[in-house]
Amino acid sequence: MVSVEHLSIEYSSRPILDDITFLINPRDRIALVGKNGAGKTTLLRLLAGVETPTSGRISKMGDLTIGYLPQVMMHVDGKTLREDVMSVYSSQLTTDIGGEARFIAEMDRTIIGLGFERKDFDRPCSEFSGGWRMRIELAKLLLKDPDVLLLDEPTNHLDIESIQWLEDFLKNNSSALVLVSHDRAFLDNVTTRTIEITLGRIYDYNAPYSQFKILRQERHEQQVRAYQNQQKMIQETEDFIERFRYKATKAVQVQSRIKQLEKLERLEVDIEDNSRLSLRFPPAPRSGDF
Ligand code: ADP
Repeated sequence: MVSVEHLSIEYSSRPILDDITFLINPRDRIALVGKNGAGKTTLLRLLAGVETPTSGRISKMGDLTIGYLPQVMMHVDGKTLREDVMSVYSSQLTTDIGGEARFIAEMDRTIIGLGFERKDFDRPCSEFSGGWRMRIELAKLLLKDPDVLLLDEPTNHLDIESIQWLEDFLKNNSSALVLVSHDRAFLDNVTTRTIEITLGRIYDYNAPYSQFKILRQERHEQQVRAYQNQQKMIQETEDFIERFRYKATKAVQVQSRIKQLEKLERLEVDIEDNSRLSLRFPPAPRSGDF
């Protein structure tokens, strides 16, 4: 549905995303995770088309619609809550008989679900605080029912009941979803795939957040074990070469081990952003300098 190919973006020569490639399929529910500043919002903005990549591209299928809820809200004009949300219907150019009544019923459910009361419907949008205006934008976005929903921290301004409502809404919704949220329970309940951004790279797991954390840890441990075994083997081979390199009777074996090392595919451990941890990981493999 949406294909991200070799996408890179840098700000002032600092790479934020570095050659990333992935697909968004219909009904995918993707949690986008990573540390603060990792590039989550940047990737959403690129997907929404409000940011241009340094290189690579994003291709979208045909007349695919994308709805983006940014973290920071834009202006509000002079409309009331009801008028503002109804504008979604007016812009849809539908000729469906009874469509308006259906829209209004759905609109009421959505606005109430997001915590408004009926008496709020005719209040001007400008009277609402930033958090409530964000709910209005969220209501409009959900009612537009785009093929792909991009939500950046949608629970930030919601109370527990509205979070629960949004959770149920998203679970029953057929749009593909890319979600950034610090709320782990919300991520677990709504998403089924996790894409982690770390130091410009992405790691894509077919699992919700909590399971992703376990899988990532297991993968890391496996990599470290494989890496350490290989390092041990390299060390032993180097020692052998060093010991026998001037011994004529071992010349053939020494040559064969040198070749073996040359041909060896060096294992690596996925880079991790440990900038706020004091853990240390194995150093980069030595280049064979013999
Ligand atoms: P996240 O959403 O994961 O916290 P962001 O995508 O907001 O990360 O930011 C990624 C990095 O890019 C941050 O270091 C941020 O300061 C930087 N950045 C974001 N937007 C801009 C911009 N318009 N100009 C320069 N740097 C930016």
